[in-house]
Amino acid sequence: MNGDGGSRLEAEEPEDRCPNCDGLGWVERRVPLGHPDFGELFPCRCRESAADRERMQRLQNYSGLTKGMLDRMTFETFNVRRHDINSEGQGYLQRAYLAATTFATHPEGWLLITGEHGTGKTHLAVAVVEHCIRNGLPALFTFVPDLLDHLRAAFSPNSQVQYDQLFEQVKSTPLLILDDLGAETSTPWAKEKLYQLVVHRHNSRLPTMITTYLEIDEIEAAHPRLSSRLMDTFVNWVPIGIPDYRDNRRDHPNSRRRGT
Ligand SMILES: [Zn+2]
Repeated sequence: MNGDGGSRLEAEEPEDRCPNCDGLGWVERRVPLGHPDFGELFPCRCRESAADRERMQRLQNYSGLTKGMLDRMTFETFNVRRHDINSEGQGYLQRAYLAATTFATHPEGWLLITGEHGTGKTHLAVAVVEHCIRNGLPALFTFVPDLLDHLRAAFSPNSQVQYDQLFEQVKSTPLLILDDLGAETSTPWAKEKLYQLVVHRHNSRLPTMITTYLEIDEIEAAHPRLSSRLMDTFVNWVPIGIPDYRDNRRDHPNSRRRGT
């Protein structure tokens, strides 16, 4: 160092070899055979410029997710070959993983992932957002009960936030994740807001990923007006059918869970 570098350069001394790429500057992504990123090399995070990092920071702020979650719940950390489930369950996981990685790489249409709590739906949803951010694309993650709470709060007369603005942002965001549909309290108001949201995104063909623990017939019962949209041909429905997978809930970012 020549003394003119300032603290920013000093933070990147060569002996701080990047543990992510072991100093090579390039990384492979751990994706299954057949995935578009398979065997490809990508620039490591350590090669990002300050401008890249600033943009990623903005996208991260926008995403509604913390850095901790985005770092922890990536495609790379998703375990498709769990030993505690049988091969049928692993098949479900692999199909869901492939669908989520494909959606993250080419966000088109809708992706609906159904399955019990703890099957990894939320992990995949967060990983989609993380992948988009890394590619410089905006993605907004919402936990459906929280989203409706926020909308309801913004709707009140003494709210600081403009309801219209908030609803419009969620409605029209380029890529929306609706995590845990069905966990919301189904008041007529909440149902109506969800319906408006889904119908707008459906009509506009805006890329949307939805996760839910509800079975298809339960969606029909709980949200009859939504279910026809969700059964549309441009919705890729991927069930994760792993029996007795409820105990493993550690990877869910939200503490507000169903009681069972
Ligand atoms: Zn690196």
